[in-house]
Amino acid sequence: AITIAIVGRPNVGKSTIFNRIVGDRISIVEDIPGVTRDRIYARGEWLGRTLNVIDTGGLEFNQADFMTQIHMQAEIAMDEADVIIMLTDVRDGITKTDEMIVKMLRKTKKPVILAVNKADNPEQRAEIYDFYRLGLGDPYPLSGAHGLGIGDVLEHVFQLVPREPDMADDDETITFSLIGRPNVGKSSLVNTILGEERVIVSQVAGTTRDAIDTEFVIDEQPFRIIDTAGIRKKGKVYEKTEKYAVMRAMRAIERSQVALIVINAEEGIQEQDKTIAGYAHEEGKAIIIVVNKWDALKKDNQTMKEFEKDIRYHFQFIDYAPIVFVSAKTKQRVHQLPDLIQRVSDNHKRRVQSSVLNEVLNQAVLINPAPSDKGRKLRVYYLTQVSTMPPTFVAFINDKELMHFSYERFLSNQIREAFDFVGTPIHMISRERK
Ligand code: GDP
Repeated sequence: AITIAIVGRPNVGKSTIFNRIVGDRISIVEDIPGVTRDRIYARGEWLGRTLNVIDTGGLEFNQADFMTQIHMQAEIAMDEADVIIMLTDVRDGITKTDEMIVKMLRKTKKPVILAVNKADNPEQRAEIYDFYRLGLGDPYPLSGAHGLGIGDVLEHVFQLVPREPDMADDDETITFSLIGRPNVGKSSLVNTILGEERVIVSQVAGTTRDAIDTEFVIDEQPFRIIDTAGIRKKGKVYEKTEKYAVMRAMRAIERSQVALIVINAEEGIQEQDKTIAGYAHEEGKAIIIVVNKWDALKKDNQTMKEFEKDIRYHFQFIDYAPIVFVSAKTKQRVHQLPDLIQRVSDNHKRRVQSSVLNEVLNQAVLINPAPSDKGRKLRVYYLTQVSTMPPTFVAFINDKELMHFSYERFLSNQIREAFDFVGTPIHMISRERK
């Protein structure tokens, strides 16, 4: 996936351009409530490649003065994006603030594309050449109002970033991330995991994204912790901004195979935890729910049961995710995490033979016959697994109108019961076979 971030001073039209890209150009893959509501981040597809777009202007930081706001927006763009789009306004020409932003962006090695917005007519388009003076190369004329020029900019973006291979299920390294609100104990957990005796920390690898991923090995199984950058960058003011935190979490999830949703036992489940877990689910990632700071609770023999009930109630959509109660402080049960990560990762990559799958189908139909409607009966001819990460099955049937969501769900549950699919979502698709 390629990530672009749009930066620029207020009123140059960042959100308009963002919406033009997101609304007209790319088809949105995800539309997560609470995140796309104010639309600062979107993930979609353009010409067969995944494109993430960040509108840094949508990130507002309370109590920050004008220059600090802009500074933080530029910093986030430099941290998060593969390509930065610096947006200016042809009607204003180059302003002092534009120059300031360009100066900030000089710190990055990432490509910066200069776009000049509000070039709505030929006269205005002729004026964009003044913008060469910013030293960012060819200026691209844009008209947010008329939706012009956007394809050219995107094309240039795609030329700049080589296509990277997708996550493959034969990749030996298990990539995972710790996701959760500030102060739930993510960095403490990472330190506890890495401090274990059987853990060999192999390297701290800088990737193209300037993020620092930590790699380690346990019993010859390599792991990579994604997005320790979120942990590393501690102390930045914007880390506490909810929108930023959610976006950061989404980006870490996208890069991971397994997402550990970390909850603070003292605070219980928060709305943001649900949003993030929902995103991991939608993205088809393997999921583990980790309740941290378990040491800090006064407990009796019902506490864990009650807590688990509460989690199951709030996270019904990820009823397949195992729950672990840990303490980064006392190290209680933290040693179980790597084995569990490996198990859910195996399940996420699991391939089931068609012959065995169809035995499960035959049994399933006996337990719960396929539904009929107006005398017509659903027939499920056979099941086959078409992909992994997450395991995806196709049910070949006689008539799509007869297939109900509940029966699809029943079939996936039967598959779950027959094989170990703990921790992974299962996708079930119905296809007509005439
Ligand atoms: P992050 O923002 O999620 O990375 O959280 P930190 O790892 O920085 O932890 C936030 C605070 O919680 C720190 O003061 C930690 O010492 C404390 N903390 C982390 N894990 C535990 C735990 O298991 N038990 C207790 N009692 N405190 C913890």
